[in-house]
Amino acid sequence: MAVFKPENVEDFYEIMEVLGSGHFGQVRRACERTSGTCWAAKFMKVRKSACSRLGMDRSSVEREVEILQAVQHQNIVTLKDVFESRAEVVLILELVSGGELFDFIAEKENLLETEAIEFMKQILAGLGFMHSKNIAHFDLKPENIMLSDKVSSHPNIKLIDFGLAHFFNPGEEYRSTSGTPQYIAPEVINCEPLSTAADMWSIGVITYILLSGLSPFQGDSNEETLRNIIAMTYDFDERYFSTTSSMAKDFIQKLLVKNHNDRMTAEECLLHPWIKPLTRKQAANRNRSSINMKTFKKFNARRKWKMSFNMVSICNRLVNLKMCKVSSEADPLQRQCESDVEDTESKPASLLRRRLSSSS
Ligand code: ATP
Repeated sequence: MAVFKPENVEDFYEIMEVLGSGHFGQVRRACERTSGTCWAAKFMKVRKSACSRLGMDRSSVEREVEILQAVQHQNIVTLKDVFESRAEVVLILELVSGGELFDFIAEKENLLETEAIEFMKQILAGLGFMHSKNIAHFDLKPENIMLSDKVSSHPNIKLIDFGLAHFFNPGEEYRSTSGTPQYIAPEVINCEPLSTAADMWSIGVITYILLSGLSPFQGDSNEETLRNIIAMTYDFDERYFSTTSSMAKDFIQKLLVKNHNDRMTAEECLLHPWIKPLTRKQAANRNRSSINMKTFKKFNARRKWKMSFNMVSICNRLVNLKMCKVSSEADPLQRQCESDVEDTESKPASLLRRRLSSSS
């Protein structure tokens, strides 16, 4: 179990600009005062009272920390230190400065499948390592697939955000309805027992988008997206997949499988001929295929726009909550719960509990 240091994080790190924001706080660049080395400090608000819905349970923070400690791998962000004050916990993480993989790709003029595969291999290596430790991520999506740096021509993949991750004890049955609609597996929607195979479904969705710029189940609303997932309504429209190899489609088809027991595992993916061709013909087929850059760029631009729109909504909600607090100073406990009511009411279906706002 990691030590949650009671000292003030600012005594050890100079806290710099915001790198990103999540539902429970910000991530900021943090420079170590003794060495000058820069890290990423993830500030997470922790619930002050049992009736509060603001912030995270301390137990959820502990789980995220334990999981981060258990998954030390070159394709997974590293945890260095943990600080704790009355209202928040600060994780000091490896600084991942290359931005999101999808943004990196969207800046290119074109990308061969073979180049995309090099990234897929790293994602699968990180994921396979987690799964071998009986840990599932449960929130794989483009925002959580980052690159180590911007300078090297072949940056490393780094998987981030273990806020929904889960460690399976032997024989344990685990259900959860959290996730991001576009990427969640049917068993999540159906509230069935989950396994690491739910991550493999998300890999299928991410690969589909990466190759075509289309999101396989995206509907006009979150509810429609969820219905499409349950109905398994996806195909490979020639207008978008004309430059995609048949092996890539086969790879996706072996992941977007309703029965989670029949999906490829991360290990099996790494042996699939699209990733590891067995014959010269297979290799040549791959080399001729490329990703649909025109639609991919459009998908990514729309995704970024939605993310910034959602961030504005979150900020507005926080401002409203702060104003609420000021107007009910008399009874601190009641004030806390009232703020929570407002927060709860602004959220739609329980299924979309935590991540609804993230690029859904
Ligand atoms: P969400 O509510 O979306 O799940 P979260 O509160 O769990 O978010 P993260 O997803 O871990 O927080 O981080 C939020 C954002 O901060 C990321 O999308 C990313 O842009 C940035 N970020 C997180 N970790 C790092 C890191 N180690 N290095 C650089 N930037 C990071």
